[in-house]
Amino acid sequence: MPRPTLALTALVAMTLVDPLGSVAAGQRPADWPIHSTARPQPPVVDPGPAPPRAPVPSDAIVLFDGRSLDAWQNADSSGHPARWKIENGYMEVAAGTGNIATKRGFGDVQLHVEWAAPAVVKGEGQERGNSGVFLMGRYELQVLDTYRNTTYPDGQAGAIYGQFPPLVNASRPPGEWQTYDIVFRRPRFDAAGALLSPARMTVLHNGVLVQDNVVLTGPTGHRERPPYAAHPDRLPLMLQDHGNPVRYRNIWVREVSDATGR
Ligand code: MG
Repeated sequence: MPRPTLALTALVAMTLVDPLGSVAAGQRPADWPIHSTARPQPPVVDPGPAPPRAPVPSDAIVLFDGRSLDAWQNADSSGHPARWKIENGYMEVAAGTGNIATKRGFGDVQLHVEWAAPAVVKGEGQERGNSGVFLMGRYELQVLDTYRNTTYPDGQAGAIYGQFPPLVNASRPPGEWQTYDIVFRRPRFDAAGALLSPARMTVLHNGVLVQDNVVLTGPTGHRERPPYAAHPDRLPLMLQDHGNPVRYRNIWVREVSDATGR
């Protein structure tokens, strides 16, 4: 076997010690203007057929079992009930009723979410099956029908919105159930509100790795990457009403803590 070149050895070493997590070369947020359509499109991967709904681990907190929105409320701080539609074991975004948020707050979590984009395809780009899973109400993992639907890479399904495109496009066709399995580490702030450590996210989309311990630049936003602002250690999980009838089912969360116990 030929010896690796010095350049290759250096590249491997750099990769191994990369403090920013496993981000493909040239795919860091700072490498691209937000929502750049020139950013490389993630390769398409067929994740295989949709499995039955995932089993719920014994220590998980069930946030939605297909029957009740009791764990949720309107996200507008009114405390009003969530008004999304429930039928046939799923909830569906009722356009215009607003985002919904869990009554309870969460910090570091393992989160399982099943979702389906509308079977009747309407719109294109960001207007097709748009919703979102917002960790702590401010860090969005994008939900979008990106099955044969081109949009800016940092806004497609599996993207940390406006920051990190997914490593691959593992979307299933509209109408089919899809899964997100998320490991989220919340940001840490000191008593004065200064950032001690940023948020990190790992995501599997339909069982396929799409975010590998990426370091978020701050909260996600449309056309902006705002800096971190100190916030509580636990905040509600939010689902987005983007006006499209996206469905959700089988949502559960496991609270996890890190080695420091913070
Ligand atoms: Mg969205």
